[in-house]
Amino acid sequence: MTRVAEHDLSRRFATRAVHAGYAGDPLSGAVMGPIYQTSTYIQEGLGRHKGYEYARTRNPTREALERNVAALEGALHGFAFGSGLAALDAVMKLLSAGDHVVSGENVYGGSHRQMTHIWSRLGLTFTFVDGGDAKAVAAAVTPNTKIVYAETPTNPMMRLCDLAATGEIARTAKALFVVDNTFATPFFQQPLQFGADIVLHSTTKYLNGHSDMVGGMLVTTRDDIAERIGFIQNSSGAVPGPFDCWLALRGTKTLALRMRQHDVNGRRVAEWLDKHPRVERVYYPGLKSHPQHELAARQMKGFGGMLSIELGNTAFARRFVERTKIFALAESLGGVESLIGHPASMTHASVPAEMRRRMGLTDSLVRLSVGIEDVEDLIGDLDQALADD
Ligand SMILES: *Cc1c(COP(=O)(O)O)cnc(C)c1O
Repeated sequence: MTRVAEHDLSRRFATRAVHAGYAGDPLSGAVMGPIYQTSTYIQEGLGRHKGYEYARTRNPTREALERNVAALEGALHGFAFGSGLAALDAVMKLLSAGDHVVSGENVYGGSHRQMTHIWSRLGLTFTFVDGGDAKAVAAAVTPNTKIVYAETPTNPMMRLCDLAATGEIARTAKALFVVDNTFATPFFQQPLQFGADIVLHSTTKYLNGHSDMVGGMLVTTRDDIAERIGFIQNSSGAVPGPFDCWLALRGTKTLALRMRQHDVNGRRVAEWLDKHPRVERVYYPGLKSHPQHELAARQMKGFGGMLSIELGNTAFARRFVERTKIFALAESLGGVESLIGHPASMTHASVPAEMRRRMGLTDSLVRLSVGIEDVEDLIGDLDQALADD
């Protein structure tokens, strides 16, 4: 079980991002942590070794990433996985058949698919509610509820969950409060401060930030939960390779810098789109017109580069996503480069049409991941793609 060092937690965010989790290589003094590309370790004698026996269980490169991300979230323990969904898989394995989960209905499409197509088959039960409506979350709790699962802001509707209120509901129910913090990142939002027991990340997105690996993380401050997740991580074995951990670590070093720029660019693009006559609605928590702007300002320090727009016309939305030249038409988000996507046919195709309709995810909704390019170029690109022929 990897534990964050006290001196790392006493430092501020940008310093943690660069330094936490790695204090120099004892063999060579290498400033950047080595990629321990090994499956096993030499033992000096029977039962005598340096604590490393086999790389599914422990790998120094992975441990550096685990400590780094845990420190960024203000947690004590971190666990890296082969993907964000593998991290969710490990969370669900904390439960037993018959246990109940209350989840936001607006969670990442793949998370919803795993819950409904795999875990329900294996005996877990789920109630999906509007995570932005704390009363609905409370009403869904049953005596069997063991996890309250939230994502905020949600993908792609940018709906917020009140972390403090939801954490209180989970605590009263004696259920674990698990928060997917992929969109906001710990730079803008730290769910543990609002009562979360476990924070989940797809490191594939902002934490790595360069669209060149797939990975996931879980962090917690509770020793009892950490022990169980560590057992699951080793027993189920969905661990990432050392090179992907090293790439993610390279990414987190610039997290503070990147998120500041995503935020500046995201706000500018959101404000510009808000005034555009062809855009019916902009979903961005940083806009005063966002119905939960006040909550956003209360629990987030910034709003980042994710936003969605309602174009009101499916054919026009299709044309728009195929016309941008800088914004690449692609799944995923959170990289330095700007991406554009059509949730109904891409990231959220696995969400039942009826559920998509209920949450406002129409066929004319377009999602943008605003990168860190020059924002004037980004606006110019959107302008030409929205223009009439
Ligand atoms: C991408 C994503 C996931 C899943 O992560 P993978 O690394 O793709 O498995 C989970 N939650 C959110 C919010 C995501 O954006």
